[in-house]
Amino acid sequence: MKSVFNPAQREGALTSLAETQFDLLVVGGGVSGCGTALDAATRGLKVAMIEVNDFASGTSSRSSKLIHGGLRYLEQYDFKLVREALKERELMVSRIAPHLVSPVSFLYPLHEPLKERGYVGAGLMLYDALRGREHVLPSHRHVSVKRMRQIAPGLRPDVLRGGVLYYDAQVDDARHTMTLARTASLYGATIATRVECIDLLREGDAVVGAKVRDVESGLIFEIRSTVTALAAGVWSDGLHERAGVSPGYSVTMSKGVHITVPGSAIALETGVILKTDVSVLFIIPWKNEWIIGTTDTPWTGDRENPLATQEDISYLLDQANLVLLRQLRESDIVGIFVGLRPLVATNQGSPTTKISREHIVDHPLAGLVSVAGGKYTTYRIMARDLVDAAVGDLNRKVPESCTEEIGLIGADGVVALRNRVELLAQEHGVTQTLITHLLNRYGSRFEEVLDLAGGDQVMLSAIAPGLEYLRVEILYAVLFEGARSIEDVLARRTRICFEIADGGLEIALDVAGLIAGVLGWSDERLDREVSLYSKLISSQRLSALRPLDSSSDGLRSVS
Ligand SMILES: Cc1cc2nc3c(=O)[nH]c(=O)nc-3n(C[C@H](O)[C@H](O)[C@H](O)COP(=O)(O)OP(=O)(O)OC[C@H]3O[C@@H](n4cnc5c(N)ncnc54)[C@H](O)[C@@H]3O)c2cc1C
Repeated sequence: MKSVFNPAQREGALTSLAETQFDLLVVGGGVSGCGTALDAATRGLKVAMIEVNDFASGTSSRSSKLIHGGLRYLEQYDFKLVREALKERELMVSRIAPHLVSPVSFLYPLHEPLKERGYVGAGLMLYDALRGREHVLPSHRHVSVKRMRQIAPGLRPDVLRGGVLYYDAQVDDARHTMTLARTASLYGATIATRVECIDLLREGDAVVGAKVRDVESGLIFEIRSTVTALAAGVWSDGLHERAGVSPGYSVTMSKGVHITVPGSAIALETGVILKTDVSVLFIIPWKNEWIIGTTDTPWTGDRENPLATQEDISYLLDQANLVLLRQLRESDIVGIFVGLRPLVATNQGSPTTKISREHIVDHPLAGLVSVAGGKYTTYRIMARDLVDAAVGDLNRKVPESCTEEIGLIGADGVVALRNRVELLAQEHGVTQTLITHLLNRYGSRFEEVLDLAGGDQVMLSAIAPGLEYLRVEILYAVLFEGARSIEDVLARRTRICFEIADGGLEIALDVAGLIAGVLGWSDERLDREVSLYSKLISSQRLSALRPLDSSSDGLRSVS
């Protein structure tokens, strides 16, 4: 069945990758690569995509998870960029991914009643105007001191003088990226994870595909393609270097740290945006938690597992505490995640690059194109630009991008399904809460999950007390969504990794037991996988938090 990623599909994809002549091979399964695979597949191209690890395992699972126009670009007068991002935001909420992308409100607290209100209000009026006439998100509105006490009792009344409320949107980034990949597969793309591009194949001056390695078996083989498109984010420089390509740009890395704290730690009915000396800080509602972020510091270390420092954590807590009534402490933290922004700069005098907004598209050799930079929100534009650049080397007419019209898997009919939650719950003999949970994660595909459970009440129960994820979803992750490790399941298919204080360590063995059969793991392999996950969680938390203080519990007890 197309659009399903599981061990049997992967075997078939590996054979096809080795045997097919493709039009386009995409390297990198972050949001840019998955978006590119979808753009190309829906234009009628024969597309392959490989990802060295898991979908979204790079930056695309570690963003602030906001689909936004970027208020800060207004201060730089970059209205074109804001307008474009706002259009993407509206499209994603209404047509492309209404099951995965939803509106979220942010309060901009004001420290003085007049001048600041005028400035912020004018900015937000412009922000709303740039959405265009057809929009689904509500407009901004001013909030009095009295109203603020109702919607934001957790903010300090002594330093705040009202605020302005505006709307953006939010997404589970890892789930969205994987859903993009499933949609690309539905339209015919051949996709495999755990396949690494180790070199580019050349014929004369042209690139004609890639030499790749199946990370799981170690097998090395070739994928032949008229054009190869690199969408490798912060790994771009390394790939260029390995393949002996002189690109038109280079990528530097900026580290962004987020922490999560329990919902009960902050009394707010809305997200909050704060202006800091260096950037902005968001307090973002996330299920039963708050996500607080982010930092912005240069990074030159490990790309796979960037670490937070104690300074990063202090910065986040200190900035949030400037406006919070109940001061946050380190012991409130339940999770940490760290991402690397790919910052691109053109190499001097390069004739090959096309800088457009925040991203760069490069065409350094015949048969080779690449993209880097940009932001999550504008992935569709990056994908379109990258495929446009590739088309020139295909020597045939290729239709224009049509992804503006294409809903991702699960998007169809989701509004009607949400209106029918009560009936659906009765029909399936489950609670309305469960149906809503499934609709928010799988949209119209929610019945695939229920069918897999086959009415088994154990499968329909929570994976652990207090968690909303069902046992059957763990199985669905490996049978339909291409999860191949505990980390894939706990960090990306679910977000348990930063949603509970032990990062999911206590349930890691149970999760491993559920998926071991499908993935063909021996007992020894199962133990190894649990230990790998445990090391991952511990390394992140040990680097970021002060040594264990005996009075605290939760997060540090994993070390
Ligand atoms: C802290 C932070 C917060 C952010 N917040 C937001 C936000 O709220 N909203 C927003 O719009 N944007 C945000 N962004 C930006 C956004 O997350 C990124 O622009 C986007 O995720 C980059 O996606 P990508 O696909 O280009 O890169 P990645 O997601 O890093 O994907 C590159 C992929 O290539 C793979 N790869 C590398 N080498 C190889 C190889 N040799 N073979 C095969 N595969 C390979 C990697 O494993 C990786 O999965 C944020 C970024 C950060 C760091």
